[in-house]
Amino acid sequence: MSAASGSADVSGRTLQGRRALVTGGASGIGAAVARELASRGARVVVADLAGDAAHALADEIGGEAWVVDLTATEVLDDLSLEVDVLVNNAGIQRVSPIEEFDPDDFRRIHSIMLVAPFLLVRAALPHMYANGWGRIINISSVHGLVASPFKSAYVSAKHGLEGLSKVTALEGGPHGVTSVCVNPGYVRTPLVEKQIADQARVHGIAATEVVEKVLLQDVAVKRLVEPDEVGSLVGWLTGPDASMVSGASWAMDGGWSAR
Ligand code: NAD
Repeated sequence: MSAASGSADVSGRTLQGRRALVTGGASGIGAAVARELASRGARVVVADLAGDAAHALADEIGGEAWVVDLTATEVLDDLSLEVDVLVNNAGIQRVSPIEEFDPDDFRRIHSIMLVAPFLLVRAALPHMYANGWGRIINISSVHGLVASPFKSAYVSAKHGLEGLSKVTALEGGPHGVTSVCVNPGYVRTPLVEKQIADQARVHGIAATEVVEKVLLQDVAVKRLVEPDEVGSLVGWLTGPDASMVSGASWAMDGGWSAR
């Protein structure tokens, strides 16, 4: 019996012998997730557009790099993935009123954050079904649960991802496959550091003030989420104690969505 199939494992290597794929795995949350899954014994495929960073992390954790542009759906259409854990994490952000939103930006965001996750789930399920075991973790956002103005593409793609995750949970459950969304608030990553710098410029205030007065305004626990904290939650969700967690959405937002 592999360690991943029992709850008696005391080594923490609950993914020994498993293969995992993390999209956007070269940076921020994805890198923290890749490190966490590797520490649990998985062989991790770091899938990212950023080739150098993907290779560097793959070398660090003894995994593999897959340099891929997730908007290249023709590459993903006929794919067959032999992975036991799939983490759909890659994402980008654009902020603009709907009437000024570039249609190409809207399509690109949906392509990376909704179409690619669908194609990767589609590619991974046959292998997971054949083994009777699979874990799909979709890195959504609090914006998968509630809207914010000026983020039409991001909010609609994340809401779509929530729906995809639930349908996957319903279809996959009888085959031993669970599907879950993780919904972080603001996490200290390059994506958010850029947002902080942009807002500091727009409002003419210091970056620390943007964090305290804008980002954390409605956050009960007055700090940003750290990438490692999301990594730990994802790790737990792949573990034996979480095998009944499916079709759910797990916020990690310091109380933001409780308002
Ligand atoms: P990040 O910018 O640090 O990392 C994103 C990674 O995705 C990068 O390595 C980038 O190269 C990769 N990527 C982007 N476009 C790609 C493409 N076309 N093909 C392949 N890879 C591509 O971002 P992050 O903050 O770690 O965000 C990761 C995920 O977490 C995103 O889905 C984001 O929406 C979500 N999220 C982030 C926060 C936050 O506050 N940082 C909050 C909630 C949800």
